[in-house]
Amino acid sequence: MYSRVATATIRGIQSVPVCVEADVSDGMPVFEMVGFLASEVKEARERVRTALRNVGCALPPRRITVNFMPADIRKSGAGFDLPIAVAVLAAMGRLPHAVLDDVLIVGEIGLNGVVQPVHGVLPMVAEAKERGIRRCIVPRANRKEAALVSGMLVCGVENIGEVMRLLEDASWEKYAAEEYNIEETQPAVLPDFSEIHGQRLMKRACEVAVTGMHNLLFVGPPGAGKTMVASRIPSILPPLAEAERMELSKIYSVKGMLAGENGLLTQRPFRAPHHTVSVQGLTGGGRIPQPGEISLAHKGVLFLDELPEFARETVEALRQPLEEGAVHLVRLGGSYVYPADFMLVAAMNPCPCGYYPDMQKCRCTQTAIHRYLERISQPILDRIDICVEAPALTFGELTGQQKEETSAAIQKRVAVAQDIQRERYRKEGFSYNSQIPATKIREYCALDKKQEQYMEEIYGKLQLTARSYHKLLRVARTLADMDGGDRICDRHLEEAICYRSFDRKFWER
Ligand SMILES: [Zn+2]
Repeated sequence: MYSRVATATIRGIQSVPVCVEADVSDGMPVFEMVGFLASEVKEARERVRTALRNVGCALPPRRITVNFMPADIRKSGAGFDLPIAVAVLAAMGRLPHAVLDDVLIVGEIGLNGVVQPVHGVLPMVAEAKERGIRRCIVPRANRKEAALVSGMLVCGVENIGEVMRLLEDASWEKYAAEEYNIEETQPAVLPDFSEIHGQRLMKRACEVAVTGMHNLLFVGPPGAGKTMVASRIPSILPPLAEAERMELSKIYSVKGMLAGENGLLTQRPFRAPHHTVSVQGLTGGGRIPQPGEISLAHKGVLFLDELPEFARETVEALRQPLEEGAVHLVRLGGSYVYPADFMLVAAMNPCPCGYYPDMQKCRCTQTAIHRYLERISQPILDRIDICVEAPALTFGELTGQQKEETSAAIQKRVAVAQDIQRERYRKEGFSYNSQIPATKIREYCALDKKQEQYMEEIYGKLQLTARSYHKLLRVARTLADMDGGDRICDRHLEEAICYRSFDRKFWER
């Protein structure tokens, strides 16, 4: 007898439809599985065989063939156990329907027949709905996540027995009857900029960076509040748009980090991986490919504290994603794309002890300082748009009673300046100044004759590269937008130059 079950596999964060066919016929008692399978999918055979025996449905001594379609897509992940089990049961005649094209089935099963949660349920269910499927059977632990896709009848199951009863009685409503209470979470209370006294320069840099989504670097001695300031950036980020919430939630689903209890993700991420993070942990990949920290920071902030402490190859791995807003991984059976459109915020001490260039306090040798700064390569520095020195707090700032501006007030200004950008770029494929392609710099960051001459001087003086020069102009564009002005003025250029002068100060080459 023949049977067919609809399921899916994940590539990157995309779900690809897969059809599992099973055939039980007379012949040598074997259990064969074919169709370009990753090793963990091949192992499903033993899990399914044992699990079915343990729930009282031992496989008959006949020839069992399971085929996965389409053949040219590599099937990976553990979510195929349940569709295989259902297809085999149906082909054995143990289920009333042999063809289950209109139900998406995913789930891993343990040897005792218990259905285990899997990663990537949200993109799978969303994609299934797009191809017209209206019912799905998922592990119970994934049911709330699946229910985030509206218009889908979601049945969360705990074990194979439950799946069999569900399909035998077609008791969909009973299993789906439970109301999935999805409560939109109130946004968590974020640390606020008003809690930081002084540090005007760093705060200004944060506002500029967020407005144009520019990459940002703080250099300064320990205790200057670099981390404190950076951790308040989420409080001035604009809210996520609906499509962005879905895209981001899919990434977290593929990583197995979406519970679904509180609906789709509402807040822009702020990820601060430790400096011991591996290249793979940062950019993604692995035997069973998973998104890395930079994809978890998609549409939000990736914060690298103590930048020189990160392995050089780890930081270098950011170069390509910073340019493209995505990670491309080539693996057996195809390439994967993980979105990684994030704002990079980094912080570092200027030398091993942290006090350079304050020579009264710094005890490092020139060589030690040089070696320390050398850990950050020029190509990475070129990708930083804004760098500010974080001065140690003055006594006045430390004890000041002055009322500081709240994050809400800053966020309001950010939103206004971002609207200007979105309006200007509405016909383009980007929305922020930091994303203006090199070919359109002249169009959007036009300078007058005098300004051009001035910039030529600066180009030589700061030893800019084409890339860093363009970054400077994009920042100037953002500063002009913050002023609500159409043209880039001299003062905007000057401020942008200040944010670019760090190369010369610290990294004299
Ligand atoms: Zn030092």
